[in-house]
Amino acid sequence: MDPFDSNSTERASLPRNMIENSMFEEEPDIVDLAKDSTAYPTFPALDPDEVAYEPRSSRLLVRGLGENDVDDDEEDCESSARLLGMSFMNRSSAQRSHSSPYVRQLPPRSCSLPSARTTVVCVLFLVIVASMTMVLYFLPGCTFTKMGCPKSNNKTSTNGTDSELFPWAEFRLPRSISPLSYDLTLSPDFNNMDFTGHTVINMSVLHNTKRIVLHSENLNITKATFRIGNGDASDVTILEYKPRQQIAVKFSKELKAGQNCVLTLDYTADLSHTYDGFYNSSYIDQDGNKRVLAATQFEPLFARKAFPCFDEPSFKAIFQIKIKRKLEYMALSNMPKVKTTLLANGFMQDEFAKTTVKMSTYLVAFIVGNFTPTSKNVSDILVSVYSVPEKKEHTDYALATASKLLEFYNDFFEINYPLQKLDLVGIPDFLAGAMENWGLITFRETTLLVGTQSSPLEKQLVASVIAHELAHQWFGNLVTMSWWSDLWLNEGFATYMQYMSLQTVLPQLDIGNLFLAMRFRAMDKDALNSSHAVSTEVNTPEQVEEMFDSVSYEKGASILLMLNASLSSDQQFRKGIIQYLKQFSGLNTDTDDLWNSLTEVDLSNQHPNVSEMMKSWTSQKGFPLVTLSRKGDQVTLTQEHFLLTSDDTSHSSSMWTVLVTYVNDNCSLAPDCRQLFTLSAKSGTLKVPESVKWLKLNYRNTGFYIVDYGHDGWGALIDAMSNNAKVLTQEDRASLIHNIFSLSKLGRVSFRQVLSLLNYMSNETETTPVREALLQLNNIYHQLNKRYEQGLVTRMKSYILNLFGALTEKQTWTKEDSVSTQELRSALLETACYLEENKCKQQAKDLFRQYIDSNGTFQIPGDLQRVVFSVAAQSTDDWGTLLTIYQYATYDSEKQNMLQGLASTPHTPSIVWLLSAGLNGNIIPTQDLPSVIRTVCRSFTGNLIAWDFIQENWNQLIEKFPMGSFAIQRIIKAATSQLSTQLHFNQVQSFFSSLRERGSQLRSVQEALETIRLNQRWMERNLPSLDKWL
Ligand SMILES: [Zn+2]
Repeated sequence: MDPFDSNSTERASLPRNMIENSMFEEEPDIVDLAKDSTAYPTFPALDPDEVAYEPRSSRLLVRGLGENDVDDDEEDCESSARLLGMSFMNRSSAQRSHSSPYVRQLPPRSCSLPSARTTVVCVLFLVIVASMTMVLYFLPGCTFTKMGCPKSNNKTSTNGTDSELFPWAEFRLPRSISPLSYDLTLSPDFNNMDFTGHTVINMSVLHNTKRIVLHSENLNITKATFRIGNGDASDVTILEYKPRQQIAVKFSKELKAGQNCVLTLDYTADLSHTYDGFYNSSYIDQDGNKRVLAATQFEPLFARKAFPCFDEPSFKAIFQIKIKRKLEYMALSNMPKVKTTLLANGFMQDEFAKTTVKMSTYLVAFIVGNFTPTSKNVSDILVSVYSVPEKKEHTDYALATASKLLEFYNDFFEINYPLQKLDLVGIPDFLAGAMENWGLITFRETTLLVGTQSSPLEKQLVASVIAHELAHQWFGNLVTMSWWSDLWLNEGFATYMQYMSLQTVLPQLDIGNLFLAMRFRAMDKDALNSSHAVSTEVNTPEQVEEMFDSVSYEKGASILLMLNASLSSDQQFRKGIIQYLKQFSGLNTDTDDLWNSLTEVDLSNQHPNVSEMMKSWTSQKGFPLVTLSRKGDQVTLTQEHFLLTSDDTSHSSSMWTVLVTYVNDNCSLAPDCRQLFTLSAKSGTLKVPESVKWLKLNYRNTGFYIVDYGHDGWGALIDAMSNNAKVLTQEDRASLIHNIFSLSKLGRVSFRQVLSLLNYMSNETETTPVREALLQLNNIYHQLNKRYEQGLVTRMKSYILNLFGALTEKQTWTKEDSVSTQELRSALLETACYLEENKCKQQAKDLFRQYIDSNGTFQIPGDLQRVVFSVAAQSTDDWGTLLTIYQYATYDSEKQNMLQGLASTPHTPSIVWLLSAGLNGNIIPTQDLPSVIRTVCRSFTGNLIAWDFIQENWNQLIEKFPMGSFAIQRIIKAATSQLSTQLHFNQVQSFFSSLRERGSQLRSVQEALETIRLNQRWMERNLPSLDKWL
């Protein structure tokens, strides 16, 4: 039985509650706050002791459910160390629950599948709970907890409305009210790490209604007033429904369509300690002083943590922002500052211009701290790059790159950047790579700052992140997806534009290699049953977070490339894009709007219809496997769903319109050689001259599909490649390597055949095919290592070192200017040193010694730093030295390489210390914990320790990183993707299913389990071949 039933990834939509009679179809629901627990639909039966009622505006809080007895304050270092003696490979989950003091208790038994007796008990229990609820509800002025009634309620304000009913029971807000503008005044206090806020929301009533529902999270609202038109303001009661982060005002009389009204709210809140909302951050300056700052990260659902708002992308509005600050700080926001006033208390108030365009709440941003700018005027826009003062000299490259790209996009989209200024700010402690807030883009320092010594590879990273975020100023900011289900319209586009713009503006960065590798990884993920359609319904905060994955970004970008590559010219794609941006400027769209715009400009009659064709790629998950069979001059192509973890894909009715491109042995390199065949049915036939020896489909891998050439077809291609690898472009060679490994995972080709193809590698010198082959082989090596197949591990190591030995030998250890050469040598040398090739290790050690002895005057080339530091970290003494240098290094990209080096240590106490330090964030920033875990997990011991660490600290991890977020996805993947035994499968499954609402439903968990199962099958199928052929 395949446990990965497709239904298991479907999320139950939130149950609807009491239906109140309503005038409008779209807003029928209310929540009886005293009874509802819909935010926790998967909960087991409640233990009355674990439910605390707060009748203040009838909030219901559910605490402690499903939580384990792990003490989060336990010293992580100690706990992991204590577990080290027990290899998690040798512990069954049953043993584990008895032997470890850190066991997770089994969740309370639920009432499901009851016996008659249990049913009676459960019914009685529910009656008791209901009775208690009624009693509590009628107890006024009391916050009821386990302790009784310890304090009186602090009501926001009162006007006598019946406050027991929260008037809305949906995750999405009602559409009857639309915000027009927000006036925000915020006053952060760095002594108390909190802030006060004053928000005035101007709204328009679209349909008659008796309620206003909006978002607010962790805001303590102290005063609320409401007025209609120019009438008098009066106090109103704010109802709050915490599970959905919603607040509401109810009215006894209807608000009438067409009326304008104003809601004014005063509130206080703590600055967030995580990386979202209005959060505090700090860093140590070059004099060793701690500096604090506050910054915002609102995408996707966190503007509501800074101000009450209609926090959905389609509620666009005008914003005016004022920030109060101490004299020694500066404030930045989306718009330029227009006025600074000295206040009576000695504070300054900065007032920013009103936004000139309507904007979604997730794009609002403000920062308070010490930053220094470098600026430049570009087409009448003031472009500035801000950093902390001591890193000012690292901003030049970003400024020059942003300026070039701004001009490129202004021209490409034929719409000028609409704001007056564009700031790019490097934030010392920032979780995402960057965030496209309109006019105030925030970055991690690594993705913005480069020094004079930086390698081209580091510049490539900075340029591509800037290109991505700048593209968002049009795709996302100007035209925004209506809802998170179409996130790909933002992210797929920005990702595609980032590669496309750089190929034109900075061709020396060789961005094409990275784009191709990224498309391969997107296919690997999309080949799993746990994947999802590019456009997918989302109904919970976790599901919104989970949309930030490679399907939205990389698959989104890949299908745009595929479409563009199949149109008759680049200009046609561009025309469609311009039309789309102009038509929907300032508005919200869904996927159909884009395809319709592109269909309208497609006059080629080359394909059926852009809209119909592309829907097959966005509305269903996965992608096709195209199988080729040939008889004389007849070539038959058939398509099926490429699904890695199902033995039988015939049940899948998925079908795509595939624009199959192909070349043959007579003409295989130039773009003119490419021929096109539209496969829109299950199979299709094309004719080729009988003299053609071989066909290569998916020219330069611009299509999002995998090709199986059949036994003879593969044989002919393998022969051709072994005679002369240059008969195909390097993209096509890499594509063959990726495809054959994928087919081997599917069981369609033998591993013997994979090895036959790889024989040509001894003549391969280009970056993309070498990197793809290394990645695939290393993956098998790591899996063997995690299974403790020591004999095969040794043979695999020799195989890899032999296959790439000659090419590795040719690599230099000195400064290198070409990006592609850097990519090639860093991949080869990292593998060689990791596999303990002596010469490589010696070179790395020598370079490290030279670096230490030079006292900061000798620089290790940026692309070699990681390998050099990783080798150094193998020795305990050098690890200590490296840690000391790390602490004092200011240049972020070098620090990152040092950290990766430190995380490669084989020394158990050091690994334990690193993980623990990353979690508490003092020496190792918490933002870097996911990448530390990834590196740690490469080794056998590291994976064991990290897996224990993740289990012990899960609660803290999901507190630091939002559930379902990219950071959580990375952590889960790092710890599980190289496992391949039944025991590992059981342990991973058992841990995550014990989490229930704290993670068991995450897509990344399904993906992890599916990947282990897949690895397990591959190993079982191929261990004998590996034994025979390696
Ligand atoms: Zn983006």
